[in-house]
Amino acid sequence: MAPAHLKVRGLRAGYGPFLVLRDVTFEVKPGLTVILGPNGAGKTTLLRALNGLIPRGGEVLLDGEELAEKTHEIVRNGVTLVPEGRQLFPQMTVMENLELGGWLVPKAERASRIERVFADFPKLRERITQLAGTMSGGEQQMVAVARAMVCAPRLLMLDEPSLGLAPRMVDELLAIARRIADAGTTVLMVEQNVKKALAVADRGYVLERGALVASGPAKLLARSTVIREAYLGAA
Ligand code: ATP
Repeated sequence: MAPAHLKVRGLRAGYGPFLVLRDVTFEVKPGLTVILGPNGAGKTTLLRALNGLIPRGGEVLLDGEELAEKTHEIVRNGVTLVPEGRQLFPQMTVMENLELGGWLVPKAERASRIERVFADFPKLRERITQLAGTMSGGEQQMVAVARAMVCAPRLLMLDEPSLGLAPRMVDELLAIARRIADAGTTVLMVEQNVKKALAVADRGYVLERGALVASGPAKLLARSTVIREAYLGAA
């Protein structure tokens, strides 16, 4: 199956009467797309709206078909979110967390899906009995990504995967995102780590105060004035 292609037109979303995103239009082509922007810009809100965690307005097309609005249907459409802060079950083992990730996968298929995920995350195989809450931040983030991959998504969304991690773990997590994209799962990632995110991404968007203010191929965006002045500290 061809990698997923998401088209979003006039997206509106917010909290009660407070509209965070007013009219956001963008697309996520096969590969790795990153959304950058300052705190409070609406990046997490955008991912929540696309994953049915808050209501949305506007048009969201996945390979030309309107994306479902309820989270479990969105997962069935092939879209999975790794939320900010991972949201693992700390008192459960790595294996139990992965099994929960596959709650929508038919039971007969679950074990083979998990086995396939271990092939991509060999370090986790050695840790299947460890309680998730006792792992390092980077390891927990890896479990969260692995858990999402048990659903075999066609479009994976990652909300700040590098948050709070040591530089070496940041590199490892971003490399994992890149590998997932190269293996044919379209990836949409929100990141604060502008320089490193643009180094691994194909394309990027910059969101400020609920609106997109810049976009383009990652290499060009990294050299753009908006990025250099606002995010990379260049004059
Ligand atoms: P950060 O990088 O800090 O996570 P962000 O770009 O992801 O920022 P959002 O978390 O999407 O930004 O927040 C966008 C706006 O929505 C902010 O003004 C925030 O205060 C507001 N907001 C977020 N969550 C809620 C909520 N549950 N109820 C009301 N307002 C919210």
